[in-house]
Amino acid sequence: MSAHLSRRVLLASTVAFAVARPSFAATIKPDAKSALIVVDVQNCFVDGGTLPVKGGAQDVLVINKLAGAFEKIVVTQDWHTEGHASFASAHAGKKPFETTQMSYGTQVLWPDHCVQGSDDAALVKDLKLPTAQLIIRKGFHKDIDSYSAFEEADRKTATGLAAYLKARGIDTVFVTGLATDFCVAWTAIDAR
Ligand SMILES: [Zn+2]
Repeated sequence: MSAHLSRRVLLASTVAFAVARPSFAATIKPDAKSALIVVDVQNCFVDGGTLPVKGGAQDVLVINKLAGAFEKIVVTQDWHTEGHASFASAHAGKKPFETTQMSYGTQVLWPDHCVQGSDDAALVKDLKLPTAQLIIRKGFHKDIDSYSAFEEADRKTATGLAAYLKARGIDTVFVTGLATDFCVAWTAIDAR
């Protein structure tokens, strides 16, 4: 299942985004108007979790190093109801990684993961983010998935993150976390 998710570190700003290697972390120079968004670094997405990204736990050290350069950090947490519509188990005859049609379009179906309040949904305990000040929880509407930290998958329901960043005077964000091809990518694109 891990072939569906990858663990590169993706970084984004309001004007450009690029995929980078961990060594790139040393070259980032955030200013007072920059924030780091740390996406879904939860037990469910590392080895031993319900939807693991192969080697995902290794990203924690890189993220901790990045975090030292930021005064403003926002964290996201995938936070599903039991029986969430994005779970294959909620659809008779469907297996994980198959797709189904939802009111908002095609939905990839996942193994049950990141159920609210479970250890699986907790942030990885080695994550050290001393200046993190906001946790955005997403995917808690039973019938709507949410990859992006800004807008749920119906592309209508806002999380409020855009308004928060504007209110804090933030005009550049760097996005990292798990997994690159889904929640990090959607967050980076919406940030732009
Ligand atoms: Zn999810």
